[in-house]
Amino acid sequence: MPDFSRRELIKVLLHVPLLTFIPVSAFARTGRYMHFYLPPKPFELKARHGARPGGRILVIGGIHGNEPGGYRASDVLMDVDVTRGSLLVVPRSNFTSILAFKRGYNGDMNRKFAGIAKDDPDLVSVERIKQVIRDFRPDVLLSLHDGYGFNRINSACWGQSVVIDSEEYSGFKLGEVAREVTAAVNRKIKVEKWHIPVHNTRTFDKNTHHPEQRKSLTYYSLTQCNTRAFCLEVSKQLPDLKTKVRHHLLMLEEFFKIYDVEISPDFDTLISGLRPRHYDKDEFSIDMLINDKKVNVKAGSTLRVPSASEIKMVSVNGPRGTYIVPVGVNLNWHRFFVRHDMSFLVKRDFERVASIRFVIV
Ligand SMILES: [Zn+2]
Repeated sequence: MPDFSRRELIKVLLHVPLLTFIPVSAFARTGRYMHFYLPPKPFELKARHGARPGGRILVIGGIHGNEPGGYRASDVLMDVDVTRGSLLVVPRSNFTSILAFKRGYNGDMNRKFAGIAKDDPDLVSVERIKQVIRDFRPDVLLSLHDGYGFNRINSACWGQSVVIDSEEYSGFKLGEVAREVTAAVNRKIKVEKWHIPVHNTRTFDKNTHHPEQRKSLTYYSLTQCNTRAFCLEVSKQLPDLKTKVRHHLLMLEEFFKIYDVEISPDFDTLISGLRPRHYDKDEFSIDMLINDKKVNVKAGSTLRVPSASEIKMVSVNGPRGTYIVPVGVNLNWHRFFVRHDMSFLVKRDFERVASIRFVIV
């Protein structure tokens, strides 16, 4: 159970995937082959408590893997100090989908909070998010997304909106808060098309257009945890990732004011410091055990190994969000055999940094 009482805490919990093995019995160990093991995927979270008392905010990023504005804005908050109140950030809730750059590699995770099959590969992540809400007991949960289009122009689109399930729920004035946020944010957005309205899905109404939202994280938070919840949506059609992250940070800034959490550096400094990130492949390497011998393999390498090699990737070194992706292999698998030469992509989130190639000699 995570201990959220310490002032600064980083926990990298380890995924224990449910669908991990190609049955060994199905694999005849003859001829040329290699046997690979991948390290557990991290489930990052970080809780911080300011010296001054304030509110409690939980930020959940990356439920949808092809919405990088949300998970990169959450990632920015992983490096700040909290000076007032408490902040817990889960930047990459659905890391498998982020690596695949798909909304849901295993189906839509934001439809799995009302119920989930026991053999669903997303089960561990969904249960962890629920546990975090129960343990941290936030005043408000903010779920960060990049939606399609511009809600202001087409109300069927979710991009550039603050989404609420109801004007009011259990005494929580969700509409009032969302309008306060959007009014303040829109004063800072010069392009009128990008202005952010409030989008009420009326999830509780009998004839809602969005009954599927009853399976979402925000609905779970409201109804099962009695915790206020909002979806922050920027548009997938904003011109670049930096602009998406900026709009998320503008919305977060207003929520942080309302729920009395202060950070250092402040939001203005974070926003003015946003830069596109260029990766140097020397920042990335993998610690491996190849036939029980320890090796540090730099990204970009080609390795020649004998047939029947056992290759265990022990840890992936690089900035947060770095992992190694086997080309052509199910991303839920953590152990597999191949009979051919094999390439892996070293990725930071959805971005490919380099590759590593194994050749059977
Ligand atoms: Zn989304």
